[in-house]
Amino acid sequence: MRCLRAVLAACPLLLTISPLFAPVHGDDIADRARKLHFSSIVLDTHDDTTQRFFSKTYDLAKRNPDGHIDIPRMKEGGMNAIFFSIWIDGRIMGPPAIEKALDQIDAVRENVLRNSKDMFFCRTAEEVRRAHKEGKIAALMGVEGGHMIGNDIRMVRIFADLGVRYMTLSHFYNDEWADSSTDKPAHNGLTDFGKDIVREMNRQGMLVDISHVSDKTFYDALEVSKAPLIASHSSCRALCNHVRDMSDDMIKALAANGGVIQINYEKSFIDQAYKDAYDKQTGGVVQHLSELTKNCNNDEACISREMAKIQAKLTAEGKLPHVSWERIIDHIDHAVKLAGADHVGLGSDFDGADMPEGMEDASKLPKITEALLRKGYSDADVRKILGGNTLRIMEQAERVSRELQAH
Ligand SMILES: [Zn+2]
Repeated sequence: MRCLRAVLAACPLLLTISPLFAPVHGDDIADRARKLHFSSIVLDTHDDTTQRFFSKTYDLAKRNPDGHIDIPRMKEGGMNAIFFSIWIDGRIMGPPAIEKALDQIDAVRENVLRNSKDMFFCRTAEEVRRAHKEGKIAALMGVEGGHMIGNDIRMVRIFADLGVRYMTLSHFYNDEWADSSTDKPAHNGLTDFGKDIVREMNRQGMLVDISHVSDKTFYDALEVSKAPLIASHSSCRALCNHVRDMSDDMIKALAANGGVIQINYEKSFIDQAYKDAYDKQTGGVVQHLSELTKNCNNDEACISREMAKIQAKLTAEGKLPHVSWERIIDHIDHAVKLAGADHVGLGSDFDGADMPEGMEDASKLPKITEALLRKGYSDADVRKILGGNTLRIMEQAERVSRELQAH
């Protein structure tokens, strides 16, 4: 190195004529990406971290050795807005489902309060923007599965009052009024009561989430909803043929109505070879989860620990292929080409899914911004994908709610 400096000092012309010393284009992009990422609202619409709040060993405020989300890693990755998922097994229905959902809502609110130095509980897009201005992480909530209202429409209003800003119409199993993509159709999409639920969600300004639902439920919700829909954590079926993902026609229809598809990072939803091998080894995600739930006696921490262990073992044995984080970019890019940059966002499924290599936790998120810039995306489009689109549809849902409540 010292010799090179001596040569340069002796002949400064070298600096201008040799391509060896020309500015490295990649470094410019890396620098621009960092600035863009860390000045943006980076909003993830689906994180299953709530389940961890019930573990004695987990602390949201500290860097944890496992899992994907905690405040230190969110800060490191520039994730400054998060939807904590309220989730219970889809086979639990009626009053027990309501009770367990309320336990989780309480746990989210308490954890946010306990960390009020870093976090701010938000209900509106405006509050998310305010949290960002104050340098705090915006915490929001989404209920993942209509079974948690216990078949009682009043619970939609109560959940909304408690701060829930979206509800996924079903989880892995059909509920009383909506068919799931991973269950046998029982209602031909949404029942009449299910359509009333969608209307009540519109009235409450709660986003209608169509991740997990059957294709027919999606089209029924699209027809009934007065506000744009959200797919809080779904990827593209054209790249990985999984029923949990959205077909090109569905993505186009969602976008035509102003909605946003939030790309899920789960390996078996983004990589066809992995999905095929995983199905062969485990019988598919629903069967695998069902077995683990039984073996773990419904203990969520045990389920995700066991699942990670089994997947790591199968990958080490060569029975499951390696999946790169770059598949996430492929899905974002596919959806953008299909529907435009106004209709794509991020719904990682952190702490609820198996992450691809290179996206081990929230600290890795800046890689997404850099990869999109390298593909030629504009700063404005990247900002929209990182969170702007979600804020826009939250505002639309808030506007629809005001209009409906005025009548
Ligand atoms: Zn899910």
